[in-house]
Amino acid sequence: MHRLITVGILCLCMTRVALPQEVPSAPHKPAAAHDVVIRSRALIDGTSPRRRTNQEILIRGDRIVAVYAAGTRPLAPGTEVLDLGSATVLPGLIDCHTHIFLQGEVPAAGGYDVQLLKFPASYRVARAVVAARRALEQGFTTIRDVETEGAGYGDVGIKQAINEGYIPGPRMFVVTRSISTTGGYPLEGYAPEIAVPKGAQLIDGPVEARKAAREQLDNGADWIKVYMTHRSWVDEQGALVSQPTLTVEELKAIVDEAHGWRRKVACHAYNGIGLQRALDGGCDSIEHGLELTDAQIAQMIRQGTWLVPTLAVYYYDPDPPDTPTGIRDRKRVAVHGASFQKALRAGVKIAFGTDVGGFPWSEPIAQEFSRMVEFGMTPMQAIQAATARAAELLGKRGELGTVEPGAYADLIAVAGDPLADVNVLKNVAFVMKNGSVFRSSLRPAAD
Ligand SMILES: [Zn+2]
Repeated sequence: MHRLITVGILCLCMTRVALPQEVPSAPHKPAAAHDVVIRSRALIDGTSPRRRTNQEILIRGDRIVAVYAAGTRPLAPGTEVLDLGSATVLPGLIDCHTHIFLQGEVPAAGGYDVQLLKFPASYRVARAVVAARRALEQGFTTIRDVETEGAGYGDVGIKQAINEGYIPGPRMFVVTRSISTTGGYPLEGYAPEIAVPKGAQLIDGPVEARKAAREQLDNGADWIKVYMTHRSWVDEQGALVSQPTLTVEELKAIVDEAHGWRRKVACHAYNGIGLQRALDGGCDSIEHGLELTDAQIAQMIRQGTWLVPTLAVYYYDPDPPDTPTGIRDRKRVAVHGASFQKALRAGVKIAFGTDVGGFPWSEPIAQEFSRMVEFGMTPMQAIQAATARAAELLGKRGELGTVEPGAYADLIAVAGDPLADVNVLKNVAFVMKNGSVFRSSLRPAAD
């Protein structure tokens, strides 16, 4: 005998994350003790070039143990069947560029600076907890969160609380404080006599650079994040210019240290000298990469460097068009799309990133998919950038971003066909992480 449970009642009986009135005094058990089978009419598995139909996914504990044509295997006694009806099942999504400690930096609410100058750390952590929950609600079961913006090692604690089951959230890869140079990160514009906090750890020289990497790795960083460019503007010729920050020698010290720990280095780099130094210094992923030259694209392919573009965020709240920053904002959008197309055509490895937190967590994270398709990816390529390819970037190939035996049971479902319209990914109806159902709002399956 196995129990057939249709998804309409899941939100009551299957949710293992504590309801608001419950106060967990100990970590919750993350997955069911019995086998679970998810029945799927349409499965996009993260790696196959085409959608598969009528599949069953057998889950034991927090892992997938088998994927096979529905009805072709007898189910063990006590197996629970979740029939997701006509919904499309996918691996849990992965956002490789998030900021749970940013909340959209609304200028009217004080912008960036107020977060470091006026908000208690506890307030920022409280909002980061909500942001982490928002990621999971939207089907992002894994995030690489690329710096806490002055909140120190706050990401390490939130990751721990998620892993121990005290709060809901995605599995997190954290970078902690990130690294830039003097003159290379806010807060800025205060009287030189006043010491203000900075949003990143500032270093000057290879010795300080290596020390900062060691400190961050020692305190729990899974990745190191480096700012290789900072200010940007449009020059007299109409070109986008970015201020470079670290030297190649400084970056090499960080990369050497991180690689020794078998960790990787993500480099924020818009274009120009700073982006070139990022490549020459051995960066593992270029974040944003707004404007890549043909030679830089060739170097990325040669070195196996990842590109994590963030297309959608630059459409948010541009300054007025006749101001220097407004001109800059529009130039960023213009060069980013064209550069993405060139990199895609050339075969640069591209993983999905959004910079969410740079825009509010109330907005759909999945809006990035439609930008990727607008600039030339097929819907399947865009989905794979947020599943199997993102897992490859994270060094978790076969474990995350895929529906195959041995992978974590991180699964989502959407009503509709994301290959026909990627926007359906903005409305994720079912989320399972580690074999535990977090949410389901699908209609009951018709038997
Ligand atoms: Zn960012």
